[in-house]
Amino acid sequence: MWNASKCDLCGICLERCLYVDYDKKKAAADIKDLMDGRPADILSKCVTCCACSEYCPTGADPFDLILNAMEKYKSFPIKPEAVGFFGMASSVPNQVIKGRQGKPVLSLCVMEMSLPPDAIGGQMFDDLTIAKGGDYFCYLGYVHAGMETPLAENARKFIDNVAGLGDEIIFLHDDCYAMVDAKVRDYGIEVPFKYMHILEYMRNYLRDNKGKITKLGVKAAYQRPCASRYTPAKDVFVDEIFDLIGVERPKREYEREKALCCTGAFVKVYPQLAAEVQAKNVDDAIRYGADVLVTLCPMCDRVLRRPTTERGLRKVFITDLVRMALGEKTFPA
Ligand code: SF4
Ligand code: SF4
Repeated sequence: MWNASKCDLCGICLERCLYVDYDKKKAAADIKDLMDGRPADILSKCVTCCACSEYCPTGADPFDLILNAMEKYKSFPIKPEAVGFFGMASSVPNQVIKGRQGKPVLSLCVMEMSLPPDAIGGQMFDDLTIAKGGDYFCYLGYVHAGMETPLAENARKFIDNVAGLGDEIIFLHDDCYAMVDAKVRDYGIEVPFKYMHILEYMRNYLRDNKGKITKLGVKAAYQRPCASRYTPAKDVFVDEIFDLIGVERPKREYEREKALCCTGAFVKVYPQLAAEVQAKNVDDAIRYGADVLVTLCPMCDRVLRRPTTERGLRKVFITDLVRMALGEKTFPA
C-alpha cells in the first residue's frame, strides 16, 4: 500500500522503469504530481508490470500510488471486453478433486486452461487435492486492467473460499500467492490457513527425493512473473530447484529485478510495444546461452509460446522441467 511518509522523492522507481526513459528529476516530478493528487505522464505510459514497487528502496510502494491514480483517471487504455474477461474468471465452474487424506490442497485458480497439457500430474501432485474454478480466482489480474478496486472488494471472499478448502494450501498461480502473502494485508485481512508457493513445495519434494533426480545438465532462462514483484523472496526457490535438478541459470540482462514482463499485461493495449519487449526478452535469453525459457505463470507460458517458437528457443513450464528431472517427461529436442 502506498506510504507517502516513506517517499523521499529520490526518483529511483521510475528511473529504473524499463518502459519509460526517465531521469531521476522527471521520475521524482511524476511521483510528486501523483502524491499531490494531480495526474502525471507516467499514467499513460505505465504497462502495469508492478516493478517500481520492488525498485523503491524505502518500501513506499509507488505502483500502488500509480495504480490508484490510473483507476481514478481511467488512464490505462484497456477495452471494456478485456476487462470483462477478468469478470468472467470468477464464474469459471469450480471443481475439487479429492486427494489423499492429510495432504495439502493445490489451488490452480482459473489457470488450468492456460497450463500446458498434463503440467499437474505425476508423483509430486498425485496425492494432493486439486481445487480450481472461479471461487479460487484471486482478482490480482485486475491490476493489469489499471484497477485496484476489484482486488479490495473481493479479497475477503477469496480468502474465505480458499479457507473452506482446508488448513494447508499450495498456490500454483503467482498472483494468488501475491494476493495472500502481500495484498490482503493492505486490506487488513488475516489469512486463517497455512500456505506455500508451488516453488517451495517442489523444492521441498526435490530435497526429500534427491535419489530420484537425474540432473538435466541444461541452461535455462527463467521468466519471472510480474506478481513476483510483490513477493520477491521466492527467487531463492527457483535457484535451489535449478541447482537440485542440474539446471544452470546463466546471468543475463533481463532477469531477477530487471526481468521484463511477458507482455500479457499489455499485449492487447500496446501491441507494438509488446512485440518489441517479447523480442528483447527472448533474444536476451538466447544471447546469454539459454537452452530453454522456463515459465512459472501459465499466462506467461501462453503469451511466450509464439515468440519463443518463432526464434527457435524451447519453452518449458516449471512443473514439467522438474518432472523431466524425475524421469516423468522428456526434455524437448
Ligand atoms: S516511491 Fe520510492 S523510489 Fe519512488 S521516489 Fe519515492 S522513495 Fe524514491
Ligand atoms: S508498474 Fe512497471 S511500467 Fe508501470 S511505472 Fe512501475 S515499473 Fe514502470
